[in-house]
Amino acid sequence: MKPSNLKQFGWLLLLTFSVGFLSSCSDDDTPNPITGQSITESDKSALLFMLEEEKLARDTYFYLDSVWSINTFANIKLSEQQHMDAVENLINSYSISYQIQPMGVFKDTLLQNFYNQFITDGVQSNINALMIGATIEDLDIVDLREFIAHTDNQNLIAVFENLECGSRNHLRSFVKDLEKEGAKYTPQFLTPIDYDLIINSPSAPCN
Ligand code: MN
Ligand code: MN
Repeated sequence: MKPSNLKQFGWLLLLTFSVGFLSSCSDDDTPNPITGQSITESDKSALLFMLEEEKLARDTYFYLDSVWSINTFANIKLSEQQHMDAVENLINSYSISYQIQPMGVFKDTLLQNFYNQFITDGVQSNINALMIGATIEDLDIVDLREFIAHTDNQNLIAVFENLECGSRNHLRSFVKDLEKEGAKYTPQFLTPIDYDLIINSPSAPCN
């Protein structure tokens, strides 16, 4: 499946999840005990989806790090674990039930298909592996921005902005590695303008 189709499919899945949650949960307006802010069903779905999307990054990089001696994978896979932890902490603070699947296994079919494709393509060449890294970060940034734009939950916005900051750094790293190999990444999800803005900005520390 093409990434653009996969993304549309993802939103469809989110919608399906949202409808499922609405009919099965009664604690919609439970306030967060720490922050006092309640969480909507669509924000719950966003958190659960991003938990698995961060897991997609982590699991793919763990795999590609085992295949290729590229420092970027070794460094960034640890960062993705921290991203998962950040989302998981917020999910726990709202007492949302969830289950993290084993390495390489995803509840979401879309993300499972992505992973299967990435590990198949990623063993073919080091350039493929780096292109997959850039693809994951490209997708990640766009998804995070869409979720941020569609919520007023300050806790979710704070965590997702931090994840997005990390993803921008990761995208710069993969693109730099590709340049060293004489290869060029073309954005598949970000607009060319947004992509250039990120690539032409220096790496920044994230919270
Ligand atoms: Mn991440
Ligand atoms: Mn990343």
